[in-house]
Amino acid sequence: MERAEKKIKILDLPLAHSVVDRAEHLRKDPDLLEALWERAKIIHSDGEKFLIDQESGKLAYLKNFEAPDNGDEFFLGLDSGDPYFLFLSPQIAGREESYKTLREVGGLLDHLQIGLAVHAQGLAHWHKRHPRCSLCGALTAPALGGSVRHCSQCETDHYPRTDPAIIVLVKDRDDRILLGRQKVWPEHRFSTFAGFVETGESFEQCVAREVAEEAGVLVSDVQYLGSQPWPFPASLMVAFEATILDPENARPDGNEIEEIKWFDRDSIIEEIQVGELLLPPKISVARAMIEAWYNQVPAADGSPRTPFNSIEMNESWRK
Ligand SMILES: [Zn+2]
Repeated sequence: MERAEKKIKILDLPLAHSVVDRAEHLRKDPDLLEALWERAKIIHSDGEKFLIDQESGKLAYLKNFEAPDNGDEFFLGLDSGDPYFLFLSPQIAGREESYKTLREVGGLLDHLQIGLAVHAQGLAHWHKRHPRCSLCGALTAPALGGSVRHCSQCETDHYPRTDPAIIVLVKDRDDRILLGRQKVWPEHRFSTFAGFVETGESFEQCVAREVAEEAGVLVSDVQYLGSQPWPFPASLMVAFEATILDPENARPDGNEIEEIKWFDRDSIIEEIQVGELLLPPKISVARAMIEAWYNQVPAADGSPRTPFNSIEMNESWRK
């Protein structure tokens, strides 16, 4: 019973805020979907970029008659009685300047649009890259509002894939955190450790393997912190916190990770302030984990800690 009462603290993650009702029961009825399409709010993607409303900077909504005639429509769900669709086609001629990536505009979107955008981004990417049946090679067509592709040659349904990846905040028993730096990142960027779950592996096994591979240490305790979609192109980031017992053994793998550093709450803010540390973007799981850890304990004199947000940091989503 004691275990069951143990509280798991789930993080508030920026891309995990979808409010749309996916209304799965409506997908089976093509006539109903057609009726919904007639009054839909439609977001438009070419598979890479979204059409943006120039005034608000948010996703633009098209009416059904404004959608080009050379694309596919996918049902995203309902909100406050409004049906939402994605339309996937080449960019609308004359409006090329108004297309932007989700990484570029994500920080401006409210919960409704973030939910629509991460769903649409994943669907658009998958449909665009999976035109054929993986069993018989025939062309497939979207079905059930775009939630599957159907092969009429061999009668197989194909579903969009989601690739689980773990991301882990490594701590020692003194409540310091270990961050690593990949060679390909911008200068001064450090972040938490992460990697894709391999076939036949559990999340917990993946956490232990990635931390051992990238930082050379053994995890002794793993706690779940939450998850968020990361459709670049098809990931689901599953967040954990792991405690290690042998911090003195930590070392970078020298391959993917070129440098690792331990931080306590005073040293992390100091390094940010002098520009020696650039944290990952606000929209990322890594940033949310690091901020939550930082804010867990007030400063020694009891005063609130200097918020990261008060310091100018590069908010690009790119890395
Ligand atoms: Zn087939």
